Amino acid sequence: MTYLYDDPAAFAEDALAGLCDAYSHLLQQVPGGVIRRDPGPAKVAVLYCGGSGHYPAFAGIVGPGMGHGAVCGNIFTSPSADDAVSVARAADTGHGVVFTYGNYAGDVMNFALATERLRAEGHVVHNVIVTDDIASAPPEETQARRGIAGDFTVFKVMGAAAERGDDVEQVVALGHRANDATRTIGVALSGCTLPGAQAPLFLLPPGEMGLGLGIHGEPGLADVPLPRAADLAQILVDRILAERPDPAAMRAAVILNGLGSTKYEELFVLWRTVAALLREQRIGVVAPEVGELVTSLDMAGVSLTLMFLDDELQELWVAPALTPAFTRTGLAAPTTADPSPRDAQPSTRPANPSADDAAPVTTPAEPAGPGNRAAAQVGLHLLGLAHRALAEAETELGRLDSVAGDGDHGRGMVRGCAAAVRAASSQDERQAGVQDLLAAAGDAWAAQAGGTSGVLWGSALRAAGERLGNRNDILPTDLADAADAFVTRLRALGKAELGDKTMLDAAIPFAATLRNELGHDPDVGAALAQAFASAEQAAHDTAQLTPRIGRARPLAAKSLGTPDPGAVSLALILGAVTGQPSTPTTQNGMMS
Ligand code: ADP
Ligand code: MG
Repeated sequence: MTYLYDDPAAFAEDALAGLCDAYSHLLQQVPGGVIRRDPGPAKVAVLYCGGSGHYPAFAGIVGPGMGHGAVCGNIFTSPSADDAVSVARAADTGHGVVFTYGNYAGDVMNFALATERLRAEGHVVHNVIVTDDIASAPPEETQARRGIAGDFTVFKVMGAAAERGDDVEQVVALGHRANDATRTIGVALSGCTLPGAQAPLFLLPPGEMGLGLGIHGEPGLADVPLPRAADLAQILVDRILAERPDPAAMRAAVILNGLGSTKYEELFVLWRTVAALLREQRIGVVAPEVGELVTSLDMAGVSLTLMFLDDELQELWVAPALTPAFTRTGLAAPTTADPSPRDAQPSTRPANPSADDAAPVTTPAEPAGPGNRAAAQVGLHLLGLAHRALAEAETELGRLDSVAGDGDHGRGMVRGCAAAVRAASSQDERQAGVQDLLAAAGDAWAAQAGGTSGVLWGSALRAAGERLGNRNDILPTDLADAADAFVTRLRALGKAELGDKTMLDAAIPFAATLRNELGHDPDVGAALAQAFASAEQAAHDTAQLTPRIGRARPLAAKSLGTPDPGAVSLALILGAVTGQPSTPTTQNGMMS
């Protein structure tokens, strides 16, 4: 639905007036559209043209480095020739005007008329028509194709060419070259609703998508079952690459465009596979854009655009721009150059070491001795036990966290611990010692878990490993020291104290009891059992506390009567690794 409007019939004008008010430092409204507030030194005036309802296309991408103005029609309707003449007169500084727009009959006719009239007045006027939609006509009829999100790549190239001072013929030639190099295909996931209308312009059968979307509420060209994101990525990439203009083209500007109500997160999920597939094909992805650039009111859907690049198109694509909706600073070089074998890997390497490839962060002074290796193997085994216990309790931990938190604790702990197990086992294969194994496990946990508990667990595990070091004989007191190091790290990082209702409330009694028990009884098993018992009791007792820190604090009163999820999961893990029977939680979350 489009919910907010005053007069539905004046929606486009009202929206344009609001836009020009909000961005008055960049835009100036003129009859028929907008021009730049400050035209800068006289240059070719590139005017982006089309109906409204596609924001940020077209008025939202006017500014230095991009268009000199936009000719704006009513919703999904071509501007009139009068509109075009009016904006062109306001924008022309004597260096010529280029109208550029998608290939729709109404636009073609109106801009042809306007061109005639302006030429009769002595203006130099050209048209560049965008035809990027590969679904709309076969390859032998490219001139019949529609213009959709590929408008943006063509527009960007022309705006940058004008900005650097190219003459009108050069700008037009580059516009045609950009259009010839641009391919788009999209899918509709739901129709859009015109302001004031009660129903969308089209409906999709449940579970289907419209392949070959239009940007004016046209349904897709074929309704097909909606696949998983990764399979959709494959369809889009395959279709585009089948129409690669030149098989030698190995670089592309890439846009993954949302149509108006598709979440950015959904786009990023799709992008993950799109990028991997392009890299697999050794296509260098240059300054990609994932987001809304050419929309269709509130339509759900997505399109993939590739503009295959040569050096000059690339220079223009990455050139700086400043507009209400699209800014490129030019400070960083946002390109991945010609793909190297490393770039061609199907997925990018995350910033943090991932679970699978975490390398030792600290290099042992000397190779781990047999005692230290044995401790590393115990560590790996215990992480596996912890993971199993967490997986069994995932739902319950989530439920506890949902009482006053956000419900993600079970998921986060399972994810983090699974990553830790993978990282630890790859360390084990490299014959790592316990310090390196726990460091890699902790880093992977923190990187993969998300949430406060993830970073705390990851960092504390690492600290415990550092305390054990690479010594060969690990004594019972070293275990107590490692538990203390775990707690110290939690405290330093989280800044919580005993009684704040966090995992620390279970960790502190565990570490303290372990040290105390080992002080007068050398039986490590018995000491660990005692330490676990005190942690479990303490976790249980957190139900009587109100949180003074963390996400649960604003809902402190709600939390009363429910134990702290982080304390419960810590006790659960301690139970699993010390070989104690796990104590199930009851209906109301209290441990029995
Ligand atoms: P998030 O709160 O980010 O959603 P989780 O739900 O995974 O993270 O973990 C919540 C748990 O994290 C809490 O139950 C608490 O035990 C622990 N926690 C939160 N803040 C702190 C802190 N400052 N110090 C220690 N533990 C904390
Ligand atoms: Mg949470």
